[in-house]
Amino acid sequence: MALYHGPVCRFCRRENQKLFLKGDRCFTERCSFERRAYAPGQHGQKRGKISEFGQQLREKQKVRRVYGLTEKTMRLTFDKAAATRGVTSDIFFRNLEQRLDNVVYRMGFARSRSEARQIVRHNHILVNGKRLNIPSAKLAVGDVVTVSEKSRTMPVFPLAAELFSKRAAIQWVDVDHKGFTGKVTAAPARDDIHLNVKERMIVELYNK
Ligand code: SF4
Repeated sequence: MALYHGPVCRFCRRENQKLFLKGDRCFTERCSFERRAYAPGQHGQKRGKISEFGQQLREKQKVRRVYGLTEKTMRLTFDKAAATRGVTSDIFFRNLEQRLDNVVYRMGFARSRSEARQIVRHNHILVNGKRLNIPSAKLAVGDVVTVSEKSRTMPVFPLAAELFSKRAAIQWVDVDHKGFTGKVTAAPARDDIHLNVKERMIVELYNK
């Protein structure tokens, strides 16, 4: 299944929480969830009882939408986490967070993950001095992300840096916006992710 490129505010309304998918707009009164905090569609205002499977599905969809992934990529990431020794949900989230597009977003070089993906794909990012244009590439502790010299005049970078100061602080990256560079200083822990999701339900769903 291809990546979704349609309107995204409906996802926040569906999941009944702000997922911060639109950059600046999420911090203004133009946020759709602030104005209509109910599910989209004709029957959106009637939230009925939801089955256990339905709850598991909603939790999984929430994560998929936050990271902007296809179902196939989600599944592969989960399977990889399940095959690794340790707590599956922690490893799953760590792997999602260490994706290059997410790191670019977390460092404040993009206003949203979808913008980060585009920036990476369009060759504006170097990792350890080498161009890397694969959004799913997994970064490790110690990796240095830099905006390429030619791309530094793009208007997106000061705008993203400004928005970065409004978001919750992230402890596992060190960023120098003036130098257009950032370093991964630690592996992200679950508490650093600031995502209101019941990971137990995702594990149960994928283990069925
Ligand atoms: Fe969600 Fe942002 Fe749209 Fe608000 S503006 S509904 S937080 S994507």
